[in-house]
Amino acid sequence: MSKKTYRIACIPGDGIGKEVVPAGQKVLEALAAAQDGFRFEFAAFGWGGDWYREHGEMMPAGGLAQLKGFDAILFGSAGDPEIPDHVTLWGLRLKICQGFDQYANVRPTRILPGIDAPLKRCGPQDLDWVIVRENSEGEYSGVGGRAHQGHPIEVATDVSIMTRAGVERILRYAFRLAQSRPRKQLTVVTKSNAQRHAMVMWDEIAAQVSKDFPDVKWDKELVDACTARMVNRPKSLDTIVATNLHADILSDLAAALAGSLGIAPTGNIDPERRYPSMFEPIHGSAFDIMGKGLANPVGTFWSCVMLLEHLGEKEAAAKLMKAIEAVTADAKLHTKDLGGNATTAQVTDAVCHRLLAA
Ligand code: ATP
Ligand code: MG
Repeated sequence: MSKKTYRIACIPGDGIGKEVVPAGQKVLEALAAAQDGFRFEFAAFGWGGDWYREHGEMMPAGGLAQLKGFDAILFGSAGDPEIPDHVTLWGLRLKICQGFDQYANVRPTRILPGIDAPLKRCGPQDLDWVIVRENSEGEYSGVGGRAHQGHPIEVATDVSIMTRAGVERILRYAFRLAQSRPRKQLTVVTKSNAQRHAMVMWDEIAAQVSKDFPDVKWDKELVDACTARMVNRPKSLDTIVATNLHADILSDLAAALAGSLGIAPTGNIDPERRYPSMFEPIHGSAFDIMGKGLANPVGTFWSCVMLLEHLGEKEAAAKLMKAIEAVTADAKLHTKDLGGNATTAQVTDAVCHRLLAA
C-alpha cells in the first residue's frame, strides 16, 4: 500500500529561521522514517529579506496561490535589520495569516522537563496553558493614519476593528478547544472596564457562546489582572482567549515564564480548513546569533508537533513531543539560551536519534 503523503511548504524567512526550519524538516523526516503511516514532501520558498533586496517585496504577488495546495506551512521568522519591521511583518507573515484567514493563533505553554524556568517553583505540572489569540482583526487591523505629520497639531490613529462575526468565531474556537482539554476550563480576557465598546461586546458574545458549551467552566479576567494571575496563580488558568494585542503580550509573558523564547511554538490556524495552516516558533530572526549554530530549534520542533496534530497524526505528534522532552531533560543538550553549550545540530541529531531508536 502506498504511504499517505503530506505536502509541507517550508518558508525559513530570515536570520535563524534559516537554521531552525531545516532542523524541523530533518526531525519530521526522521519521524516519517521511523513509522510506516505517512511520508512528507517538502518544498522550500526563499522569501523574506533577501527576496526583498532583489525584488522589492517580501514574497511574490502570486505567492499565496503557490502555497494554497499544501497541507501545512512550516515558517521560520521574518525580520531583517536593514528593512523596517512593519515591512517584513506585513509583507510576509501577516500576508499569509490574513490571506488564508488563519484567524486562530494558538500558543501552548508548558515547562518542559529539565528547563530552569522562572515559574518552576510551582512544579512542572502547574503551568499548562493554551493561549488563543484572535489573529485576523482587532488592534492589528492596520486601519488608521496620520495627519499633519511633524506639526504640533499632528494626529495619529490605529483603529481597532472588532466584528461580531470575528469575535464569535474565535470565542467558539476557544470554547471548543477548552472542551477538548482535561480541565475543560476557559478564561476570557478583555479590558471591558476601560474599553467600553468592543470589549463589552466580547463579554456579551462570550456569555452567549458559553450556552453552547455547558460542560466548559469559564470566567472573565481583565488583561492587566491576568498578567499578575499568570505569575501568582498559574494553576488557576488553563485555556485563555484574548484579542490580537492582548494575547500577543500575554503569550510572550507565558513563553518567558516557561523558560525561553527559543522553546515556544505557535500555530496560525484556519479552523475551517479552507487553506493551509502555518506553524512557527514564536521567536524572531535573532540576527545576533545567526549563522553560529547557536539557535535553539526546540520551538520549531514543538511547532512541528502542532503541525502533526493539525494533520490528525496524533500518535506521531505524541511521539515527537516525547523525543523533544527527553532531549530537554538532558542539560548536556541545552543551547546557550538555556545556559548550555549544545549546538542546533547536536539538539537536532539527538531528537532524530530518539525517534529512530524508539
Ligand atoms: P525579530 O526582530 O525578528 O523579532 P529579534 O532579533 O528581535 O528578531 P527575538 O526572537 O525577538 O529576536 O529574540 C530576542 C533574543 O533572544 C535574540 O536576539 C536571541 O539572542 C534570543 N533568541 C531568540 N530566539 C532564540 C533561539 N531560538 N535560540 C537562541 N536564542 C534565541
Ligand atoms: Mg523581537
